Amino acid sequence: MSLIVQKYGGSSVADAESIKRVAKRIVETRKAGNEVVVAVSAMGDTTDELLDLAHEVAPIPVPREMDMLLSAGERISMALLAMAIESLGHDARSFTGSQAGMITDARHGAARIVDVTPVRLREALDEGAIVIVAGFQGFNRDTKDITTLGRGGSDTTAVALAAALDADICEIYTDVDGIFTADPRVVPKASKIDRITSEEMLELAANGAKVLYIRAVEYARRHGVTLHVRSSFNNNEGTIVYNPTEAESGTPSTTTERSEGAVEEPMIAGVATDLSEAKITVVGVPDIPGKAAQIFTIVAKTGANIDMIVQNVSAASTGLTDISFTLPKSEGQGVLTALRAEQDEVGFVGLQYDDQIGKLALVGAGMRTNAGVSAKLFTALFEAGINIEMISTSEIRISVVTRADTINDALRVVHTAFGLDAAEEAVVHAGTGR
Ligand code: ADP
Ligand code: ASP
Ligand code: MG
Repeated sequence: MSLIVQKYGGSSVADAESIKRVAKRIVETRKAGNEVVVAVSAMGDTTDELLDLAHEVAPIPVPREMDMLLSAGERISMALLAMAIESLGHDARSFTGSQAGMITDARHGAARIVDVTPVRLREALDEGAIVIVAGFQGFNRDTKDITTLGRGGSDTTAVALAAALDADICEIYTDVDGIFTADPRVVPKASKIDRITSEEMLELAANGAKVLYIRAVEYARRHGVTLHVRSSFNNNEGTIVYNPTEAESGTPSTTTERSEGAVEEPMIAGVATDLSEAKITVVGVPDIPGKAAQIFTIVAKTGANIDMIVQNVSAASTGLTDISFTLPKSEGQGVLTALRAEQDEVGFVGLQYDDQIGKLALVGAGMRTNAGVSAKLFTALFEAGINIEMISTSEIRISVVTRADTINDALRVVHTAFGLDAAEEAVVHAGTGR
């Protein structure tokens, strides 16, 4: 008997009809002789609606209460799903994150899983029940409070359950047929990927491809969980996310197998975009040793997550330089305040803040062995009249910053330039993409 963990995202359980459809799917998996554990998200846009509501009653909602509120969304869907399965004649039991043994640290809104003790889940499975777990939430042992894992966190719940229960596979059901070479909502000609390495998926997720939550991909990689991302609206094969360094159990050990039959290994896995970042420029920094250290120590103290950093060549006449960096918009004001407070100490001239930027990231393990990727990327953007403001690279990624309002055009031209366009348009089955 196999143990299968399935995760259904909000778009797959948006209304009563969808919940009944998903219930049938779960029952079929059970009938095929598998043990089934399901992690479920809140219905449709519930989480966003609860967030809006919170901001209507309080300008800065208390984090503890915010987690109490948001975790309610998944409680609703888990109970409804269990009821729907029961009415199909199968035993189902729902559990909150804390009942399921999702132990986290105490950081409200961005808690990390520190332990999973699925004792009650194992008992329910042994009694033959289908187990439904509320995604996105946990419990801290010290504060004894409910926590949430951050937006998109139900993916992590599913992976953590799969690891703790030693599941055979973790299936992530969503509103598209799998992982595509770009967001199919923006690039209708995006191609579905059959297999992708966890390394490439990590880069895509880190750069805005919200089909999988980055922490879930990290967790899966660390615990050797294979993911199968697929649609809850049909039975098409989705995308397998695997770790090529795990040679055992028939897992393909090279990226070449991804393109079996193809003449050439695909060099690029996909392109992702992100509009959630802003750029801060520290203007007129004395070009002497220690200044970057000073600036980024101040930034680090705020806890902000810095992404790209660019330092200009200093003007010979002034001996001053500019340092720009990107960070999540939500952390922008905090960092500006911290830097302003130390302006005299550091000796820079001023600060600029720009929240109208977009980031595009081209990802592919094949970049390691292929020259000319940057030239092709920059040429495609140039031909579309799109200006590049910042550039950064890793071994398997090239990122550029452009104006926010050109980012979708940039995505489409780059997708075409790298030969990623499919013959047919991708289907997005549901959801508002909010
Ligand atoms: P769920 O409710 O199932 O968690 P999400 O909305 O979080 O669904 O994620 C699915 C969405 O991710 C898709 O509808 C799609 O618009 C978006 N997406 C972004 N990048 C990609 C990509 N590379 N491949 C597939 N989907 C993507
Ligand atoms: N409901 C949460 C969110 O919208 C968690 C999730 O769906 O994964 O972010
Ligand atoms: Mg999601």
